[in-house]
Amino acid sequence: MLSITDLHVSYGGIKALRGIDINIEENKIVTLIGANGAGKSSTLRAIMGLIKIDEGKIKYDDEDLTNHKTMDIVKKGIVLVPEGRKVFVNLSVEENLILGAYTRNDKAGINKDIEEIYKLFPRLKERSWQKAGTLSGGEQQMLAVGRALMIKPKVLMMDEPSLGLAPLLVKDIFDIIKEIHSQGNTILLVEQNAKKALEIADYGYVLETGRLVLEGEGQKLLRDERVKEAYLGEA
Ligand code: ATP
Repeated sequence: MLSITDLHVSYGGIKALRGIDINIEENKIVTLIGANGAGKSSTLRAIMGLIKIDEGKIKYDDEDLTNHKTMDIVKKGIVLVPEGRKVFVNLSVEENLILGAYTRNDKAGINKDIEEIYKLFPRLKERSWQKAGTLSGGEQQMLAVGRALMIKPKVLMMDEPSLGLAPLLVKDIFDIIKEIHSQGNTILLVEQNAKKALEIADYGYVLETGRLVLEGEGQKLLRDERVKEAYLGEA
C-alpha cells in the first residue's frame, strides 16, 4: 500500500537517513523504533513531503508521491500526528476538530465524525468548548489524534504519541491506537516506548543512525535478544 524505497534525507549536508526501505500493508500496524536521533521523525516528515528527499521513492498504491506537496499527500489520505501535540491553543476542542476536516466539505459527515471521535475520547466531549491550550498534555494528545482522524485518513502516522504521558495515559493511548486500527485504519507508529509499540504492531523496523538494522513481526522483535538488550532494558 505505502512503500518507501532507498530513502535518503540530509540536513545541510549531514545525512539523517541513509537508504531505508519500509513497507506498510493495508490494515496493519507498523512501528518504527530507535534511539533519539535515529531518524524516525525524519522518515515521517519525508513521507509527508515536509522535508526534501535526496534519493529514494515514496509510493502509495503504485502512485509516486516522492517530493510531492504536503497538501497533495494529505488529500491522498496520508496524515501525520506530529510529535508534541500541535493543537490550535486558542481554539476550542470542537473548533480544532472542525478544522481537522479542512479537506472535506460534507457538513453532515463532519458532524457525524465529530460524534464518533467523542465516542472514542469521551473526555474531549466533556471539554468540547474548552480552549485547547488549557487541556492537559494527555487531553491535547487525544485532540491531536482526533483532529487527524477528521481527515478520514487511509494511513495514520503518529510520532511518539506516548511521549511525556503518565503511565495510565500511556496505556489509554495504546488502547486507542488499537481501537482506531480495529476500525480498519492502517497505522505507522513511531515510538520510543519500544515494548508497547511492538506489543501492538504487526510488523516493526529498528532504525539506528539513519539505517534499518532489523525488521520483523512485532512479536518476534519483542523476543529478539538484540532488541531486548538495546530497546527493552532487558539483557
Ligand atoms: P527523536 O526520538 O529524538 O525525536 P528521531 O529518531 O525522530 O529522534 P530525527 O528527528 O529524525 O530523529 O533526527 C535525525 C537526525 O537528523 C538527528 O541527528 C537530528 O539532529 C537531525 N535533524 C533533524 N531535524 C533537523 C533539522 N531541521 N536540521 C538539522 N538537523 C536535523
